[in-house]
Amino acid sequence: MKTESGPIMPEVKMHLALPASPVTATVVETTRCTLGTGRGGAAKSSGVVRHISFDITGTPLAGAFRPGQSFGVIPPGVDAKGSPHKLRLYSLASPTRGEDGRGNVVATTVKRLLDEEWETHKLFTGVCSNYLCDLKPGDTVLLTGPSGKRFVLPKDPGDHDYVFFATGTGIAPFRGMVMDVLESGAASKVVLVMGSAYASDLIYHEQFEGLAAAHKNFTYLPTISRHVGPAADRTLYVQDRLSTHRDLLGPILTSERGLVYVCGIAGMEMGILRGMHASLSPEAFAQYLRADPEFQDPKTWERKLLNRKVNPTRRVFLEVY
Ligand SMILES: Cc1cc2nc3c(=O)[nH]c(=O)nc-3n(C[C@H](O)[C@H](O)[C@H](O)COP(=O)(O)OP(=O)(O)OC[C@H]3O[C@@H](n4cnc5c(N)ncnc54)[C@H](O)[C@@H]3O)c2cc1C
Repeated sequence: MKTESGPIMPEVKMHLALPASPVTATVVETTRCTLGTGRGGAAKSSGVVRHISFDITGTPLAGAFRPGQSFGVIPPGVDAKGSPHKLRLYSLASPTRGEDGRGNVVATTVKRLLDEEWETHKLFTGVCSNYLCDLKPGDTVLLTGPSGKRFVLPKDPGDHDYVFFATGTGIAPFRGMVMDVLESGAASKVVLVMGSAYASDLIYHEQFEGLAAAHKNFTYLPTISRHVGPAADRTLYVQDRLSTHRDLLGPILTSERGLVYVCGIAGMEMGILRGMHASLSPEAFAQYLRADPEFQDPKTWERKLLNRKVNPTRRVFLEVY
């Protein structure tokens, strides 16, 4: 087994629209995309997540994105110091062909950020996520990008098999990546592990179930950490799938084709790396992580050591925020 092998990555387009010269995009569609919308007796999701698509026809961004890249959104208005709001990044949720098949309509997956004001304890609503979720079709918005070049599929996606781990809006890039791989007709095995607190928080659940039913090389594993009632003993985190589905994931991760992508809540990557350490042989695990001699014990791994003392290989792709 080769030890330093990594995928051949594509050249991607970057920074075609900078913050000083953003493009104007028009909202095409905005829909709630959690499983629980509260309608028709369904359990309500504990958060609001919207799938929002933008028309970028005729701008430098048209046709320029790959799933895994992000675009910047410049919210209108000024911050508490009177300076214009800074841009926020949002992951492309579309496949390379865009939502329309021609790269002219791109979507993202936005979670409304709600918190308490530090001083007053009053409701704090995140600036850009709430701006985006309030938009209606026909509204315009300033976009920049594309941003990011490493967290994308390899140049020839069919050369690899994939294990995608997502939490929350970290699902966005995997919606596009899964569609890209499946639509290419490649025989690649693709496993998507989606973690959420409650089943009602699953994002794009019905779409992934449909894709799994239509493509035998795609497996969708929704993974719920806070079951209530009789199912309370079935609490699972994304990394637990490495043991519950060892027969599925083991052969992918042990083969030279296996790649691991992680996107979502900062910190989730450590649990996944520990889970991989526990479920793979030392030789197979060495394909994904190299730790300095004093950090061989996974209990010593902390986020701040990542890429310093605990080094994922080129077969691991991390995008956490
Ligand atoms: C590469 C990348 C990709 C991303 N992709 C996505 C995506 O696909 N979907 C998505 O939803 N998000 C994504 N994000 C996160 C996104 O960029 C924003 O950070 C997020 O939407 C919150 O922005 P906001 O303007 O709503 O919140 P902000 O207003 O920027 O608030 C941010 C934080 O500051 C705290 N805060 C600030 N001021 C106060 C205050 N006065 N009182 C209390 N708390 C305060 C908030 O609680 C919050 O934690 C991504 C981030 C990165 C880096």
